[in-house]
Amino acid sequence: MSQYVNDLIAEVKAKNPAEPEFHQAVQEVAESLSLVLERHPEYRTARILERIIEPERVIMFRVPWVDDQGEVKINRGYRIEMNSAIGPYKGGLRFHPSVTLGILKFLAFEQVFKNSLTTLPMGGGKGGSDFDPKGKSDLKIMRFCQAFMSELARHIGPDTDVPAGDIGVGGREIGFLFGQYKKLRNEFTGVLTGKGLNWGGSLIRPEATGYGAVYFAAEMLSTRAKTLEGKLCLVSGSGNVAQYTIEKILQLGGKVLTVSDSDGYIYDEAGITQEKLAYIMELKNVRRERIKEYATKFRTATFTAVNPKLDYNPLWSHKADCAFPSATQNEINGKDAQNLVRNGAYLVAEGANMPTTLDGVRVFLDAKILYGPGKAANAGGVAVSGLEMAQNSMRLPWTRDEVDARLRMIMKSIHATCVQMADRFGTPGNYVNGANIGGFMKVADAMMDQGVV
Ligand code: NDP
Repeated sequence: MSQYVNDLIAEVKAKNPAEPEFHQAVQEVAESLSLVLERHPEYRTARILERIIEPERVIMFRVPWVDDQGEVKINRGYRIEMNSAIGPYKGGLRFHPSVTLGILKFLAFEQVFKNSLTTLPMGGGKGGSDFDPKGKSDLKIMRFCQAFMSELARHIGPDTDVPAGDIGVGGREIGFLFGQYKKLRNEFTGVLTGKGLNWGGSLIRPEATGYGAVYFAAEMLSTRAKTLEGKLCLVSGSGNVAQYTIEKILQLGGKVLTVSDSDGYIYDEAGITQEKLAYIMELKNVRRERIKEYATKFRTATFTAVNPKLDYNPLWSHKADCAFPSATQNEINGKDAQNLVRNGAYLVAEGANMPTTLDGVRVFLDAKILYGPGKAANAGGVAVSGLEMAQNSMRLPWTRDEVDARLRMIMKSIHATCVQMADRFGTPGNYVNGANIGGFMKVADAMMDQGVV
């Protein structure tokens, strides 16, 4: 690591204590960018990276609401408006008890580079709350979403900041949030993406992150003259990203062996078929129950509960060709990465954001497998959100085929950018460097053009 990166990380840690995920995200990017900053001293003089690391604005607020029993509850709400050099802030909202300022800052930071890679004009942001939607009634969820939006509404807008969903925020929550925004502002605008189809949403938005991750994987495989046909795949998570990742893998002829939630994982040796996937979607999106039910329904499957005493996740120890982590951050550590590589995996496409620890990333890079980091591989979601914004501005919806074709084109272009940038900076095949450098250059040049603001 260069002295410059060491000094930068030391400063980030001193200035932002107790934000380990943010330090991790910055370190990974800074290591890639040291190559660029050597060749472009003008970025260093203008302190572009130091400016990108500092959010343009952090909004933190109280969210008081009343539960079904009339009890007053208080959660904390956030919106990190990270960088608006190339467009309005754009990024999801996460509702999960693990949400902290540091987690949202890492996500907002990653989002800046990801959005830049999509080729669309979107800045980076992220927000959410430590509210836990799990097991709560629709009425409670609605009351919370209304309370959250009562404050957020004054900070966002279709040309300022356009949030979307993330963990714990799906179609139901976006509906309640949009309803409250519209009531408060008396405006029907594209202020959120992931909307319902008959009130401004885009076809393919629910599918986009998962489909995009698999399109990206297919592009990576094509560099080694391979396809997904017949490949054994491990998928984690069972939410939005995992579900549509599985659907696309099946369409391209792969076999999916695993799926998980925060209680544990399912291994189905017979493979998850389209019918079994329909069961998962019903279980998770309608009944909102736990994934272990799958093993009761299908005899070919076993459920393994999370064991907090283990220092690895057995999901990643199964023999497979490809892995699609699609649950949450740091779900693959160094040991998991070694297990994957030892058991023959030669492709990892990250549907989740930063699912691999820095140790794990090093294992993948050293093994020279096809490793697609989240900010490239999962950019399909925000890309179609960008297409939803375009359709809202035109007040004209596109067909499913049209959006899917654009998504495919965007994933192809992100892949090409990663490959070209990795080559140009002397690290061919390194998608981490390719994504970080490709995402950075566009934002950096825009910031240079716009002066010190
Ligand atoms: P969902 O809420 O739909 O699903 C999340 C899944 O991950 C659930 O199965 C959940 O299990 C599991 N999970 C969440 N937290 C943990 C944890 N701490 N440990 C183990 N499992 C966990 O979210 P999404 O599918 O939308 O998001 C998944 C990942 O993809 C996240 O990293 C997100 O940031 C990223 N992403 C999402 C995009 C989108 O468009 N939705 C776009 C780009 C990235 P449980 O039900 O038990 O909580």
